[in-house]
Amino acid sequence: MPELPEVESIRIQLEKFLVGSPRGGALRGSPRGGALRGHIIKKLEIRNPKYEIEKEKIENTKITGVRRFGKVLVIDLSSNYSIVTHVKMTGQFIYQGPNLLNVKSLSHKVVGGLGGKHTHVIFHLDRGGVLYFNDYRRFGWMRLEKTSNIQNSKNPNNYIGKLGKEFLKDLTLEEFSEILVKSKKPIKILLMDQTKMAGVGNIYANDALWLAMINPRKQANKLLNYQIIKLLKSVEKVLKEGIKRGGASELAYVAPDGSEGHYQDFTLVYGREKEPCKNCKTPIEKVKLGGRGTYFCPVCQK
Ligand SMILES: [Zn+2]
Repeated sequence: MPELPEVESIRIQLEKFLVGSPRGGALRGSPRGGALRGHIIKKLEIRNPKYEIEKEKIENTKITGVRRFGKVLVIDLSSNYSIVTHVKMTGQFIYQGPNLLNVKSLSHKVVGGLGGKHTHVIFHLDRGGVLYFNDYRRFGWMRLEKTSNIQNSKNPNNYIGKLGKEFLKDLTLEEFSEILVKSKKPIKILLMDQTKMAGVGNIYANDALWLAMINPRKQANKLLNYQIIKLLKSVEKVLKEGIKRGGASELAYVAPDGSEGHYQDFTLVYGREKEPCKNCKTPIEKVKLGGRGTYFCPVCQK
């Protein structure tokens, strides 16, 4: 499932393609060094009733921002409404249009192609732009909310208010430490609990624990102070690396330009069962923890 680096990679590209660079700053990759112009949604084509949202509040509005809260994306509109969406397992946003300057060949992970049987929503944009939403497992969702209401904790649909503070954003060492000392859960399971701290899923939890030399099964409240500090730094480091590599294309993840991420080629321990530990050469072991594949070095990780 996409984690923080994948969803952030989607956000960065959607912002570039849909909102443009309104301050007129030159974007790298632009042939004329000029600004990219943002888009207006001219027409919304909903092909699957699961994704039914109020068209009239979306059509003929300008896209003013693309934000991310944990793994949730928020597309802000000039109508003071926002599209709140989660790609879940296999959701994909793919853009085609004038703001895509370096057209790459479409990944084979875009199952069924664009406008095919797994395309559920099509945003027809001005100037010939199109944004497709594809999802072959159909766990992804989309909702329309008043922009002023999306972080309101009294909103019954509020998914964002339930998230814990976020790595690389507002989670401090003090808060991280406080969450850990209060929990007897295995540290890896706690790291992935989005209601406690947001942004880390299975791939990056495995890698961060290896980097911090902590056994994934270790009880969270048994970590020593120096281990807590090292763990937070390790989580931040692997997340930044993930963003730098454009995310990991493990299942269906592709960026809005149709290309895949590359973090899967650079994982530290994730997916490397029986391969030698990058630190001590001991074969990496795999166990199940909380139902998820857990990779670790039995020698380095205490
Ligand atoms: Zn090792």
